Amino acid sequence: MHTSKHDVLVIGGGIIGLVTAWRAAQRGLSTAVADPAPGGGAAHVAAGMLAAVTELQYGEQTLLDLNLASAARYPDFTAELSAATGLDTGYRRCGTLAVALDADDRAQLRDLHAFQTSLGLEAQWLSGRDCRRLEPLLAPGVRGGLRVEGDHQVDPRRLAAALLRAAELAGVRLLRSAVARVECAADRVTGAVLADGTVVAAGRTVLAAGSESGRIAGVPADVLPPVRPVKGQILRLRIPPTHAPFLSRTVRAVVRGSHVYLVPRENGELVLGATSEEFGWDTTVTAGGVYELLRDAHELVPGITELPLTETLAGLRPASPDNAPLLGRTALDGLLLATGHHRNGVLLTPVTGDVMAEVLTSDTGELPAYAGAFGAQRFAAARQEQTV
Ligand SMILES: Cc1cc2nc3c(=O)[nH]c(=O)nc-3n(C[C@H](O)[C@H](O)[C@H](O)COP(=O)(O)OP(=O)(O)OC[C@H]3O[C@@H](n4cnc5c(N)ncnc54)[C@H](O)[C@@H]3O)c2cc1C
Repeated sequence: MHTSKHDVLVIGGGIIGLVTAWRAAQRGLSTAVADPAPGGGAAHVAAGMLAAVTELQYGEQTLLDLNLASAARYPDFTAELSAATGLDTGYRRCGTLAVALDADDRAQLRDLHAFQTSLGLEAQWLSGRDCRRLEPLLAPGVRGGLRVEGDHQVDPRRLAAALLRAAELAGVRLLRSAVARVECAADRVTGAVLADGTVVAAGRTVLAAGSESGRIAGVPADVLPPVRPVKGQILRLRIPPTHAPFLSRTVRAVVRGSHVYLVPRENGELVLGATSEEFGWDTTVTAGGVYELLRDAHELVPGITELPLTETLAGLRPASPDNAPLLGRTALDGLLLATGHHRNGVLLTPVTGDVMAEVLTSDTGELPAYAGAFGAQRFAAARQEQTV
């Protein structure tokens, strides 16, 4: 049986666990990450839209502020990562065009535009003709759209690879095994036991296991985060040089109530997503999911059916009850959360790293003021009532 001892143990080496570990190590904390497959997780599937403005939903204004704070960090964050690792993250300042395909969609998009404008966000209304002038391959029936020049993209696979490398270079120890159970002694979390038998002792343990965070053994039921998996199926296509440039920015729409988006990467990949399904931990790619994505995307950009289809896959978004992340201390001493980022985990990676570094190094362990609304314990009272 091996043992190791650290200031911080991070459970889960997805982008959220890795950014937490990297930032903790940079602040001088001896840090380990336990994950059988670090650098994978939902980021292997995700589209990588940094869509604070186009993904705005009613009732999520508090989350909007955190999303915008993270989007603003992206240029420096990716530059720092690339300088530290020599790896490119595929950060691309391309903007986004959200379009309407019929009169109902147009009315909804107009409402969204009014809401965005009322919050001081930058979004420009365009006629259908102006949308097609920007993106000539859009369907002739497009009725109008919103041009959001501030919603960019990053390649989440490259981001995860760079974070993994940066963490290693900063001295983070990678333990390539799952956490079998979290260890508690005298009402305090003291680390974890891994599936390979390694005992990891840690002053603080950060639970960042994505959609698995709500079912890690050893954590009392009333402390486990209320995180559920939301499945997303996604397709990857390739734009042959003969078809380039295909799209110059992210293009999205709501078709029959479902969101569909096309994210063109600089390397010629086109990501087409995504379904949103609540079926537990299932990651099967279904014929129905692929059919619906292709059908809806074809209505938006008919030319996609000519492109080679290179990959179909599904991943799980870690969703909290209010779609916002759960960050910082739990009611159990020694245990912290960095999870629940749902559909904005890629966008929220830079700000999450900063928040967690602050919590792990400040004397009080409090969240910084700008993240005060995202405390790990905000659902605890409701959960205790449910268990009584
Ligand atoms: C189809 C799809 C599209 C998306 N598109 C976008 C987008 O455009 N923009 C955006 O901002 N976000 C997007 N997201 C969301 C984003 O990908 C996630 O919010 C983010 O990747 C979550 O990261 P995480 O590190 O919290 O969790 P995960 O990526 O799930 O990582 C959790 C890690 O924990 C590990 N783990 C699990 N159990 C254990 C255990 N017992 N012991 C040790 N390790 C364990 C896993 O192996 C995994 O590596 C999308 C997600 C999906 C599925």
